[in-house]
Amino acid sequence: MKQEHLIAKYESLNKIIKGEPSAWINPLYLPFASINAVSELVVDDMMIQEAAERLGRFAPFLMNAFPETELSGGIIESPLVTAESMQAELSKIYDGKIPGHLYLKLDSQLAVAGSVKARGGIYEVLQYAEKLALANGIISADESYAKFASEDMHKFFSQYTIQAGSTGNLGLSIGIISAALGFRTIIHMSADAKEWKKALLRKNGVEVVEYENDYLGAVAAGRESSAINPRSYFIDDEQSINLFLGYAVAGQRLAYQLEEKNIIVSPQSPLLVYLPAGVGGAPGGIAYGLKRIFKDNVHCFFVEPTQCPSVLLGIATQLFEKADVRHFGLSGRTAADGLACARPSVFATRLLTNLLSGVFTVNDADLFEYLRLLYKSEGRQVEPSACAGFGGAVNLLRLPESRDYCRKHGLTAEILENCTQIVWTTGGALVSKEVRADYLQTYLRKD
Ligand SMILES: *Cc1c(COP(=O)(O)O)cnc(C)c1O
Repeated sequence: MKQEHLIAKYESLNKIIKGEPSAWINPLYLPFASINAVSELVVDDMMIQEAAERLGRFAPFLMNAFPETELSGGIIESPLVTAESMQAELSKIYDGKIPGHLYLKLDSQLAVAGSVKARGGIYEVLQYAEKLALANGIISADESYAKFASEDMHKFFSQYTIQAGSTGNLGLSIGIISAALGFRTIIHMSADAKEWKKALLRKNGVEVVEYENDYLGAVAAGRESSAINPRSYFIDDEQSINLFLGYAVAGQRLAYQLEEKNIIVSPQSPLLVYLPAGVGGAPGGIAYGLKRIFKDNVHCFFVEPTQCPSVLLGIATQLFEKADVRHFGLSGRTAADGLACARPSVFATRLLTNLLSGVFTVNDADLFEYLRLLYKSEGRQVEPSACAGFGGAVNLLRLPESRDYCRKHGLTAEILENCTQIVWTTGGALVSKEVRADYLQTYLRKD
């Protein structure tokens, strides 16, 4: 698998290829105004707006099918909360200053799917359901979408199949929403997928196909199985625009939450966001949505496992989706199942090439340290993948590469004092009590 010529060619990525925790600063990052490509790219403001409106149309259905969304009027959104104790603990234990105000964006609590995948996965299923229902005259544009919860609708959708490949959470979000609409659903699960996630899906009436091999194999098998059935729709995590759009809506949602809290985002008080990345679709969509709103006042960093920095390699080498971490001698294995994707997304790597500030890599051992610290300091528990963002906040001023980024982008000590830092905690609500206890007791070697 390892390709020596690649390793020789990208000598500057030496530390990353060796699997050491690092800060990689994106040399292709550009000021927002200078990126002509942004307007030429397939996803524009109008499309994000349409996605937001589509989610609004489905709110009556979601309230009906998932009563836990009643409080928010059928809108699936997560809270933004302060994390002062965690901020203090992290700086103490990791012996580094975390400047400004640290917040958590708790996608770990997103309704229905309990992870960031509730944004993309649910959106893509809903847009497909809408398309089918409109095309077949089952619903008209001026009717209430509460109708999607009806028996007739169920019966109609039962003629169609939705399929996806997943390491776990995408399967959960798609499986749960598809089953609620009445679709037949098949999820192709990679070897990384946790047993409890498979069991939960089966309980929801979803067919789970298990694979011995990794995520890419599961996706490929799912794609093939779907292609031979004209009434089957495949949700392709590696190249779906719809998933990306669902995630991008988070930009305006966060802008609104910041406004509510009177948090101003400006050159004097910038926003720094740390997003755990697998294929890059979820963090990519979110970062993209944020960049379109806050432009140069938001600095988006991804965080990936040291053994699986696929988005980093995809952008750094400009090999995009062809960059496979295993070609660089990395294992692609990680306890962060949500991030275990050896190759990155077609879109995310391209769209983010000039927008992403950089990528931090963290080892699995630290993920469990963050997980315990968060539980101890804030009483919150999330899943290991969801802890990756802390690796960014902790290391921003500890590692020379990211310190240099701050210096070059006018993020002086004074400005950083006023900044808002957001660690996006991407999943966790559906984790069972037993597995939670297990996570708290997991100690890994740091190598
Ligand atoms: C899927 C997932 C991510 C990353 O999303 P990608 O689109 O694969 O980059 C991060 N955290 C959790 C918990 C996830 O399930």
